[in-house]
Amino acid sequence: MTDHFILINVRLETGFIENDGHIQGTQCDLFNIEIKDGQMVAICGQNEVQSALPQIDADGMLMLPTLRDMHIHLDKTFYGRAWRAAKPNNEQDIFQMIALEQQLLPTLLPDSVEHAQQLIALLLSKGSTVIRSHCNIDPVSGLRSLEHLLQALEAFNGQIECEIVAFPQHGLLRSGVASLMREALALGCQWTGGLDPAKVDGDMQRSLDAMLTLAHDSGTGVDIHLHEAASTGIPCIHHLLNALEYTPELQGRVTISHAYCLAQISDVEVQALGERMAALGVSLSSGLPLGKNVMPLPLLRKCGVKLMTGTDSVIDHWSPFGSGSMLEKANLWAQLYGRGTEYALNRALTIATGDILPLDEQGARIWPLAGDAADFILLNASCSAEAVARQPAISASYFRGQQVYRA
Ligand SMILES: [Zn+2]
Repeated sequence: MTDHFILINVRLETGFIENDGHIQGTQCDLFNIEIKDGQMVAICGQNEVQSALPQIDADGMLMLPTLRDMHIHLDKTFYGRAWRAAKPNNEQDIFQMIALEQQLLPTLLPDSVEHAQQLIALLLSKGSTVIRSHCNIDPVSGLRSLEHLLQALEAFNGQIECEIVAFPQHGLLRSGVASLMREALALGCQWTGGLDPAKVDGDMQRSLDAMLTLAHDSGTGVDIHLHEAASTGIPCIHHLLNALEYTPELQGRVTISHAYCLAQISDVEVQALGERMAALGVSLSSGLPLGKNVMPLPLLRKCGVKLMTGTDSVIDHWSPFGSGSMLEKANLWAQLYGRGTEYALNRALTIATGDILPLDEQGARIWPLAGDAADFILLNASCSAEAVARQPAISASYFRGQQVYRA
């Protein structure tokens, strides 16, 4: 495909339609967008530009920012394999899960490249072109999970941006993988992972310090899985925040994944922690859990904490329920925290796009602008709110100006 073309008849949001003081709808217009070398270089009204450039007709479809799946495990999926439900396991006791993995990983590794690729293709079809994947670094698979994932990603070179977290799933200290982690980080992982330092490693301080040392020495950021209950989880977050006061180079480069313990404390405590997290640039990656684990995410966002979401699992030994759709996550956000109003649905999209939205809070068009990366999706919807509520299929995904998926 050419690197310089005009996408014609693109539907873009241009403002809110207000009536009686309420936002009742979203105004859209059709535009022609010139795309060159991966950037949107000009956004023009339909009749503004006559050009000899090749044209691609978007047919009036809505353009939205590319979707971002910021927490997935591409390396150990059942996707594309025979159906298997999760095993009965006392609320997924972490030690039973680790024991299960010791049996399972050798059976998954032989064709994990193929299944990771099938899963990436699924994500592209759901509009995600920016991905953060955790990858097991454990004594059973050694570096093979990572080597296979890197091999799988080669086939998508230039089609997605995928960061990898070196993830000590069987415990950084418990499974003795510090030196394996060093090797993994040298192989090109952008993030140092961690896991339940008190519960799994049995020594919160030593575990967190070992993780921070790995991150410091490799010049990577941190993305830690934290599933611990409030009694140990909250002290863990405090220890992490205290450590960040003395390691300014890691500020803005730490993500806590899940952090269910934040759903178990009072709003006052959440607010105090949230303000510190925001000040030290600690983001939160949440799968938007249901039931007793419903997270206080709106309050954390109000404190200024950067929020992300991800698939985690489409289907694996942890859960068989994932669709791979970040539009579905935005829909879930709207159901959990908003209502079905035009404005709430419009704003809900932000969890799926890395906080890039077509309209600002007042309804001014802020995306796309000339100079923005040409990372977007096209879909058959009249506006963001409809896309979030109805979740239409993605018609096309573009990454850096290249079409990387088409229905
Ligand atoms: Zn995970």
